[in-house]
Parts: sequence; C-alpha cells; structure tokens
Amino acid sequence: MEDCVFCKIVDGKIPSNKVFENDEILAFKDINPAAPIHILVIPKKHIKSINEIENKDEDLIGKIFAVIRDIAKEQGFADEGYRVISNCGINGGQEVPHLHFHIIGGKKLGDKIV
Ligand code: AMP
Ligand code: ZN
Repeated sequence: MEDCVFCKIVDGKIPSNKVFENDEILAFKDINPAAPIHILVIPKKHIKSINEIENKDEDLIGKIFAVIRDIAKEQGFADEGYRVISNCGINGGQEVPHLHFHIIGGKKLGDKIV
C-alpha cells in the first residue's frame, strides 16, 4: 500500500531497526518505545487490522506468534515475561493501519489493561 508507513518499512523506503526478518514477517524496534523493550512484529503483506485477517491468513498469524516466541527467547526476556498487544480501530487506538503486534517488556508492566 502506497501510503502505509509499515509497507514503506517493508519496502526499505523508510529505515527501521530490524530485529527479525523472513519472507513473510518483519520485526523492528518501535520508534517511540513505551518500555525498555518495545518491538513491533508485522506481516509483510498489508493487512489493515485484526478485522481484515482472512481465514487463509491463519498460518501467517500463527507464524507471527512463533516469531514473537523466538524473539523473546533469543533476546533473553522470555522467562521474565512481556506483553503482546494489537490495537484495532478507533476504540483500540490504532494509529498505523497495518496489522502489528507490540511486544512490550523489560520492566514490570501495570496491572491494568486499560
Ligand atoms: P498503534 O497505535 O498500535 O497503531 O501503534 C503504532 C506504533 O508504531 C506506535 O507505537 C509508533 O511509535 C510506531 N511507529 C510509527 N512509525 C514508526 C516507524 N517509522 N518506525 C518504528 N515504529 C513506528
Ligand atoms: Zn501496509
């Protein structure tokens, strides 16, 4: 998608601090970290949000969670724990309309989800 900031990161038109990449999935550091660890994991193909996930994407979504698991293990924060968030739409506070999963950690996070 032409105007999508995360598609531009996938295409290399906008730089990013990459943590993981394969043919379908990219992970990079959030530009405005909310915690000591703040990584975004995205499908390379443009899916707008959770609402636009199609049944044929179920393997891809499973692979994204396997990538999240592996990043946590390889970067050494799996055991101490972390949080995964995907904001969806207006009420969810989604700012970038390209499906992404925030991995947030590196400190004890607040007890409340909202
Ligand atoms: P959301 O509110 O869930 O849509 O989150 C979008 C996230 O993308 C925010 O945490 C931003 O800091 C992050 N973000 C926006 N532009 C960039 C960028 N160019 N590189 C890395 N992270 C970005
Ligand atoms: Zn996109």
